[in-house]
Amino acid sequence: MNYEIVIGLETHVQLGTHSKIFAPSSAEFGAEPNQNIDPVTLGLPGSLPVLNRAVVESAIMLGVATNCEIRRFNRFARKHYFYPDLPKGYQISQFDEPICERGRLTISVEDSQRTIGIKRIHMEEDAGKNMHDARTLSSLVDLNRAGVPLLEIVSEPDLRSPAEAAAYLRAIRRLVRFLGISDGDMEKGSLRCDANISLRPVGELKFGTRAEIKNINSFKFVERALEYEVARQTAVLVGGGQVRQETLTFDSVQEVTRSMRGKEESADYRYFPDPDLPPIVVEESWVHDVQSRMPKLPDEWQRDLTERYGLSTYDAAVLTSERASIDYFSAAFEVCGNARAACNWLTSELFRLLNKSNFDISQSPVKPEALGALIKLIDSEVINGKMAKAVFEEMFATSKSPESIVQEKGLRQITDEGEILKAVAAVLEKNPSQLQGYLAGNERLLGFFVGQVMKATGGSANPRKVNEIVIAELNGRRKGPVLG
Ligand code: ADP
Ligand code: MG
Repeated sequence: MNYEIVIGLETHVQLGTHSKIFAPSSAEFGAEPNQNIDPVTLGLPGSLPVLNRAVVESAIMLGVATNCEIRRFNRFARKHYFYPDLPKGYQISQFDEPICERGRLTISVEDSQRTIGIKRIHMEEDAGKNMHDARTLSSLVDLNRAGVPLLEIVSEPDLRSPAEAAAYLRAIRRLVRFLGISDGDMEKGSLRCDANISLRPVGELKFGTRAEIKNINSFKFVERALEYEVARQTAVLVGGGQVRQETLTFDSVQEVTRSMRGKEESADYRYFPDPDLPPIVVEESWVHDVQSRMPKLPDEWQRDLTERYGLSTYDAAVLTSERASIDYFSAAFEVCGNARAACNWLTSELFRLLNKSNFDISQSPVKPEALGALIKLIDSEVINGKMAKAVFEEMFATSKSPESIVQEKGLRQITDEGEILKAVAAVLEKNPSQLQGYLAGNERLLGFFVGQVMKATGGSANPRKVNEIVIAELNGRRKGPVLG
């Protein structure tokens, strides 16, 4: 029997706001333990939560970007459970009245596109962190992360393979980075997901029983964990057994999933509307205002880059894969006005050198404005492409401006026609047999002459002019009518 894979992801995005969702403490990552705390974060009696407006606006942005309906009246609810990293005894989340519902996100997997339904997006607070010290057999609690704002994005069970699940997660990361609402770094825990997976016989309409793998924190592990589950559940079903509805954890060392507990139901959490927080009213004018402040998103960039900037679909896809690439491209284009050159230099030379030094684009020693200036020097024929490559390597090594490198090295391409003509004449003189060959009809020798002239000028001649002058000179030596 063949089975179809059914996957739905619950993705947590940690927002990059300055302060926490209901408290004034810093929400920044990396402080000493328990530095970012206050009465609300500690759940002290008498303290009251105050909602951070930036969190609501981040949720609206993500909702608009994923074509969700924004709920005009939405509400926070208390989700009750005990854990030492949750001093209040409940997490403030949203339950049956989330801020965004019924959206969609388009993903690309191996050249084909699929649209994945977004069931809901809601706002909630993160919990703190327990640290267990095996040496002293003690556990410590760090509440810095308690109350840091999260958006939880719940997909419909529309994903059909582990690779699609990873592509979906990448699309979420790209989107939150473009929107500037989160750094989306899985390594820092700013992006994590729970993956729900079930199998059903091909052709069956009813979904099978699912298992939920909790807290996966890398793209690789999402795929590995799901692949393992596909194999495990297939074996259970083929053996005539039934998949148990349960909560699993992924052991990334052994690359297996393990059972944590039976699946809890929402009734177990005793959800009820939080009486300390009034419902949030999102007027349409607020949505419009937020929308007007939203940056250009990847799909729109893709369209503009191909239609307005004349780039290929492939190049546009490379640039839009990361917010940082688009920002770099835009800043370089701003200076040089040459989209194709900016894209080529970025995706070939710069990416190559960044890779070699293990830098990401934000650490590039060549700023986009400097790349733009280099392209301008080429386009205005001060230097040629070959010189530019050497200048670029030097810019990368020293962070100097292209103008100063060109000046220091006395680089300047030869554009003087008299000078180029002299070099051409000398090359023709020195190569009589090739000249005969050309005049006898072997037009492919044109490249040979151009190459020789470039060599003779130490690579400094303007290649366009060399080409023109070589053609003119060769034609001049023909007997009979001159060809253009
Ligand atoms: P709960 O609130 O019980 O966790 P939801 O209906 O909100 O359940 O679904 C949680 C996630 O599980 C969603 O991403 C959804 O797409 C996914 N999901 C639901 N049913 C299945 C299933 N049978 N197989 C795989 N994923 C599923
Ligand atoms: Mg769930």
